[in-house]
Amino acid sequence: MKKAIYPGSFDPVTNGHLEIIKRAAVLFDQLVVLISVNPNKTSSFTTDERAGFLRKVCYDIPNVQIDSCTGLIVDYFKANDCDIIVKGLRAMSDFENEFQMAHVNKHLCPGAETVFLCADSQSTYLSSSMVRQIASFGGDISPFVPEAIKYDIMKRLDITAKKEER
Ligand code: ADP
Repeated sequence: MKKAIYPGSFDPVTNGHLEIIKRAAVLFDQLVVLISVNPNKTSSFTTDERAGFLRKVCYDIPNVQIDSCTGLIVDYFKANDCDIIVKGLRAMSDFENEFQMAHVNKHLCPGAETVFLCADSQSTYLSSSMVRQIASFGGDISPFVPEAIKYDIMKRLDITAKKEER
């Protein structure tokens, strides 16, 4: 039984993340989508909101669980008997940072093997920050996020709508 974790900010989850989740869920027996909470980084959505979005879009994938951690990924990895860390690679720009993280994690925990899945060609350009930016100006985020959470994201971030309400 292979248990994998897919760590990230998921601020918010995008179609690119979901595509990696679906593919990883086929490859491993159990997949934990792990919201890694970094107290030094400001996020737009709370951990609970991010977890809620993930639960909504993963409800039909039975071997996927959602969890969060505040410390090191490898500490969670060890404490929860995980076998693999899954990461998505969009472009060369992701590679350098991910490569470094994979090596550091392996150094901290020799059993922590990282598996990279290449982003689908449709989502290589897609990031949570891009979604946040479009939503904050009232733009259409439908092509980038799952339909089930689209309105929740827009409602929270659309500064143009908030201005009109005043
Ligand atoms: P972001 O850079 O969008 O804030 P995260 O920190 O949530 O992303 O990323 C978590 C993991 O998901 C990382 O391995 C990242 O490379 C991967 N990822 C992010 N966006 C995509 C995407 N559009 N397609 C595939 N993988 C992605």
